[in-house]
Amino acid sequence: MRKGEMDKDENAPVPVIVNIFMTSRGKERLIYHNFTYYKQSRTRSGFRWGCTKNRWHKCKAYLHLADDMTIVRSNMEHTHSPFGTPSRKKGRTSFITLTKGTRLLIYDGYSFSQNSRIRLGYRYVCSSVGKGCKSYVHVTFDDRIIHAHSVHEHPPTKYITTTKGVKMLLINEYVYSKIGIRAGGGIRYRCPNVNKGCKARVTVLEDDVILPTINEHNHEPLKYLKTNNGLYFRL
Ligand SMILES: [Zn+2]
Ligand SMILES: [Zn+2]
Ligand SMILES: [Zn+2]
Repeated sequence: MRKGEMDKDENAPVPVIVNIFMTSRGKERLIYHNFTYYKQSRTRSGFRWGCTKNRWHKCKAYLHLADDMTIVRSNMEHTHSPFGTPSRKKGRTSFITLTKGTRLLIYDGYSFSQNSRIRLGYRYVCSSVGKGCKSYVHVTFDDRIIHAHSVHEHPPTKYITTTKGVKMLLINEYVYSKIGIRAGGGIRYRCPNVNKGCKARVTVLEDDVILPTINEHNHEPLKYLKTNNGLYFRL
C-alpha cells in the first residue's frame, strides 16, 4: 500500500478481533487466528507482538498492533501449524506405560500425563504443567486424538551435546545421560543427579519411543547454557 491510500475509506485499516489474556505467571499473551503471541516491545502506535514459538520453532511471525486494534504491520508466515490443528507431519502419537502402570502420551515430541476423564475419552496435560504449560491433548478411549492444544513455550524432547562432548537426552527440561544398552533393545539413560539420590531413568528404543521406568525427579531441572557453537555447558 502506497502512502496516501490510507486516507481512502475502503483502505482504512479495520480493527481486528484478538484475545488477550494473562498466563499463570502474569505474562500477557495474544491469540490471533489460532496463533499465540507475546508482547515484545512498545512501538510508536502500539505494541509489537511476536509469535511465542519464535524461540523453539524459529518462527519469525509478528504483529504490530496499534492501540485502536488495527494491524500496522505483520508477518503471518509461521513455521508451524496453528494450535488446535494436529500437524500431520510431526503428529506421531505413542503411549508409554511406566512401571507404576501410569500411561504417558508422547505427542509432537512432548510427553503428557492423563489428567481427567472427558465425555469421549481422556484429557492429557503436558508433563510441564507444573511449570505453567497449558498444552493438552484429548484422546478417545481407543487412543485416537480428538483435539490437541499445543502452546508449549519450553523445548520438546531432543538430544544435546555438552561442551565435554557428552551426548545427553533432554525431556521436558530434564537431561539424562547414557548408561548402557537395554537387553531387549534400546538405550538406557539416567538423571545425572543420581549421586544426589535422584532415581529418574528412561529407555529410548530404536524408533525414538521413550520408555520411562522411573519418571520423577527429586529436584528442579539442572541448568544448562547453550554456547555459540551449539554445545551445552552445565551451570
Ligand atoms: Zn509462529
Ligand atoms: Zn508443554
Ligand atoms: Zn533427576
